[in-house]
Amino acid sequence: SIPMCRRVHTTSQLLQEAVQTNEPQAYEFQAETRMLLDIVAKSLYSEKEVFVRELISNASDAIEKARYLALQGKELDSSEADMKIHITTDKYDKTLTIQDSGIGMSREELIDNLGTIARSGSKAFIQQLQEGGGADPQSIIGQFGVGFYSAFMVAEKVEVFTKSRLPGSIGYIWASDGCGKYTVEECQNVEPGTKIICHLKVENREFADEQTIKDVIKKYSSFIGSPIEVNGEQA
Ligand code: ADP
Ligand code: MG
Repeated sequence: SIPMCRRVHTTSQLLQEAVQTNEPQAYEFQAETRMLLDIVAKSLYSEKEVFVRELISNASDAIEKARYLALQGKELDSSEADMKIHITTDKYDKTLTIQDSGIGMSREELIDNLGTIARSGSKAFIQQLQEGGGADPQSIIGQFGVGFYSAFMVAEKVEVFTKSRLPGSIGYIWASDGCGKYTVEECQNVEPGTKIICHLKVENREFADEQTIKDVIKKYSSFIGSPIEVNGEQA
């Protein structure tokens, strides 16, 4: 039996419902990340749609990593995975979900990759801000891109369900509202790979609209190596 079962948000793509097994453990974002997130969340950047490109490119990178390891003869879980990027929109819930069957992340990788700033461009920009260089905070988004964190331009909460494709891995849910802290907890019935649910701010609910997302994909992601499906149809 599972202690303290708490149902967490899932999409219809899951056959079984993901179930969080323990109380989530809270972590603080690294100081530089907090600064970046603060800029991102308050951003008046006009091309917010670029977050779709960032999340799709991460999904594609993760699929490429899995493909590469498989080609190297590495044993991976769910080798029959379809290697597609599945996007679902839910206007009623105001969610946009991006799911891949890529390499996935362990707890350590979640903390290292989604809790700190690895991107050298963003790092340099934040340093410039700290040193009072007088740079325009909005230009970071346009000039350097903020990768995963760009989701917080449009989402009031982001949930990341992930399970590494390396054999013997367990699933996790990472969640944050982008305000200083995030949580990580073990989660059962997570599909191998990564699923990111963006709970959109009311003013950004357009990104839960199928046609809007299709248009954004057409604009930015036509050179992505993996097939993209939107609500079960080839985009
Ligand atoms: P970048 O893609 O430039 O490394 P991001 O902020 O976009 O920076 O992503 C940070 C890191 O988070 C990635 O390098 C990767 O390790 C991890 N990551 C993000 N999305 C995924 C995903 N869908 N699957 C696996 N890892 C991911
Ligand atoms: Mg990226």
